[in-house]
Amino acid sequence: MCRNKAGGGRRCKRHQGEYRKSYDRAMYAAHISEVSFAPLLKEITLPTSPPPVVKVPFSEEISWSTVTEAVENARVLLADPRPRITKNDDGEWVVTEHGWAVEAAVTHAGELVKKAIDLNAEEDVLRIVTEAQEREDPSDDYEFTIERDRLINEASTWGEKYEEMVCPVELQRDRYNTARQLDVDSEETRITSEQLMKMYEEQEQYSTAQMKAEHELDLMVSDYRKVEKNIMWARKAATTRVLSRIRPLGLEGEQEIILHEITDESMKEVVRPAVRHFPREWVQSSDECPIPLTVANTIYRAGYSHSATVITYDSGNKLITDDCDPADGEPVAVLVLNTTPAMGKTVEGIATHEFAHRCERTYTPNGSPILFELQETFLQRRTGGGPGKTTADREPLVPYEGKEEEVIRPDNFAHVYMGKEYKWESREVLSTGMEALWSGEFGGMRGNGNYHTDEDMHAFVLGVLATA
Ligand SMILES: [Zn+2]
Repeated sequence: MCRNKAGGGRRCKRHQGEYRKSYDRAMYAAHISEVSFAPLLKEITLPTSPPPVVKVPFSEEISWSTVTEAVENARVLLADPRPRITKNDDGEWVVTEHGWAVEAAVTHAGELVKKAIDLNAEEDVLRIVTEAQEREDPSDDYEFTIERDRLINEASTWGEKYEEMVCPVELQRDRYNTARQLDVDSEETRITSEQLMKMYEEQEQYSTAQMKAEHELDLMVSDYRKVEKNIMWARKAATTRVLSRIRPLGLEGEQEIILHEITDESMKEVVRPAVRHFPREWVQSSDECPIPLTVANTIYRAGYSHSATVITYDSGNKLITDDCDPADGEPVAVLVLNTTPAMGKTVEGIATHEFAHRCERTYTPNGSPILFELQETFLQRRTGGGPGKTTADREPLVPYEGKEEEVIRPDNFAHVYMGKEYKWESREVLSTGMEALWSGEFGGMRGNGNYHTDEDMHAFVLGVLATA
């Protein structure tokens, strides 16, 4: 590993104290994975891919059959007709013993799917990391944090030096002004003027150094965010590869999702890429739903309405409305999408989020709103509930961003919105989770940007995608 640069190696980081931890970690990972994970690699590497170079470390030995067994086990439990969740006399959802077992099996399957994805992505991730190292950019959180703190510290040191000069410069300026008032051409005026210019220069140097460090910091952060993003794309591709081996995603071949004829062509384009992230059965359930789907644009907040109406005027013009007697028109469901998204959001992410809400309503195998039931169970477990616990044991509902009409139960989610509840059978775990998984929002649940990691929710969402 320590070949010189001319020999095709890169600078060995082992000897730089700050890099030692990540280097040792990577070497340990490579070593462990050589030993334990060959069976999984052999199974899940697609025939067209070159063989992976370095593999990811797992804390336990797994193989592809371990993944499929866990998926199968969860599916058997999901097919069991016993109720998973019931409503008590107070109108609260109560998860049955069977419901807890199902959620545990789904999340466990998701954990294994996630490991398979990480392994499948590892070769691409390693290439991205190596390229970053060759550019001498930070290539992991550890290096990034060290470099960021160093630059912040440097900028603030130069800033302090600048500040320290403020008073002496003022004093010197007074001295110079006094000398100048007494005699413009005196020796004293000349000396104080020279000293003042020197001090100005010194102060200016500190200011320049501070700006330079700040600029370097900006560039470094932006470079690292690019590395993070590329890794996210690599993992997204691996997610598609691994999930597709478990069940088909999107519709077959060139087939398109069925949308109401009122749908604008440009809005169809927005939905198409999002639909490809969903299990085929879920997408088909949207096509089979008696309430057809359409897509509308908004400059306000995106949303999904399952009870809108298309009104046709005498002129032939049509209007989609959420606010009229359905008997006056034709029932329709609407994905309302914001095609000029706020910072950090993408149109595809928004479309994916809202289509997840569509699936909550349309995908109901054996008449059960399975996606809602699983989310409610997950949320109860995460917010202080669980087998034998009651609503009183859970985190209380609190207004979301101070709005009384929207409520959340706080937990250690990547974003508080994930803990949102509605009176109807819809939650935000799947929608935000899908957005994170496929568009990298909320730090991709992997702790990118300023978000923190949520491996449990990550596993749950993958488990639902693989099994439900
Ligand atoms: Zn939502």
